[in-house]
Amino acid sequence: MKEFMVGHDVINGGDYSEFFDGVMTSVSSLTDYNITRERYEDYIAEPIKERELFEGFDGTLFIDSGGFKFLGGYELDGSDFEVDIDQEKIYEIQNRLGGDILVNLDQPITQDDSYETRVEKARQTAENVVQFLDISEGTHSARYLTLQGYDYSMLDTFISEIDKIVGSSRVHKKFDGIALGGLVPLKDNKGRLIDAVIDCRAVLRDWGFDDLPLHILGISSSAIPLLSAVGADSFDSSSYLHSAINGKYDVSLARSKPLDNVDFSECNCPVCSDSDLVDRMKGNAEYRKDILGPVAMHNLITQKQEVAEIRDCIRSSDPNALAEYLEETLGRHKALRRFSHRVVNESLGGYF
Ligand SMILES: [Zn+2]
Repeated sequence: MKEFMVGHDVINGGDYSEFFDGVMTSVSSLTDYNITRERYEDYIAEPIKERELFEGFDGTLFIDSGGFKFLGGYELDGSDFEVDIDQEKIYEIQNRLGGDILVNLDQPITQDDSYETRVEKARQTAENVVQFLDISEGTHSARYLTLQGYDYSMLDTFISEIDKIVGSSRVHKKFDGIALGGLVPLKDNKGRLIDAVIDCRAVLRDWGFDDLPLHILGISSSAIPLLSAVGADSFDSSSYLHSAINGKYDVSLARSKPLDNVDFSECNCPVCSDSDLVDRMKGNAEYRKDILGPVAMHNLITQKQEVAEIRDCIRSSDPNALAEYLEETLGRHKALRRFSHRVVNESLGGYF
């Protein structure tokens, strides 16, 4: 993907930059792996967009905090090292990586947390928010507030705690958007995802934050059209990559085909139009990454093109455009039809 990002010679060059207009990475991409201190120091030594490796990449870089683990690794001599991860350290890393959109460090809640635990976690997050706003004062990066919760009451409790400690007017003045986290455990339950986003929009409205864009962390693919219809504005996705790793070639946000069953001439994306890359996708390459890399790129293009279509429907002057799009795409999909009908009826003025 790095090679596609910069149109490297090894993938025959080409300009794929329009598909990398927004890229997300996370502090946890450093903390989740047992890297050496030397490598850690190297990763944060220079902003991503100023690196030679990424020359030509000029998309918006969103850096998630995701660093609730301790960074652990080893020195070159094999001894352990650990960096204390707190709000200050997370911001320092986000800043050194050169992020354009940054989020505060939050305390993720789980389905098993008691009410008291959730309130306590919200309080800790609120303290991080105060620190985050103080240390990032004057930044040119956009700042997104992370929220945790899957229903009205959880989200309302969360914002109440933030309001008590930070003050809702300061939150409103300083933050440029909201990032809803903690939904990944619900990713296969479309009904609950829809509930969570509808409730989140309702809570934001009741607290006067409804003018802020809403990003949904870690939810992608066929959930995108449904959640867009109920008020989500942006998404981050690695499903294009996971599909490819599992030998799947995406034909839409909701459908994919096994790689060995694909007629590449049916797709006119720049990957499937390059005979060398098609040859690799057919298995004619020594390394698996060279077979699946182009598949991942094709999958990303397919997803991005469909997201652009959804965006056009939302911006269209025709009030039924999104409802019609949902009917044409998800309405024909047995497992997704009822969710499509639900969001059309509840949020798009009815249709069925
Ligand atoms: Zn293609």
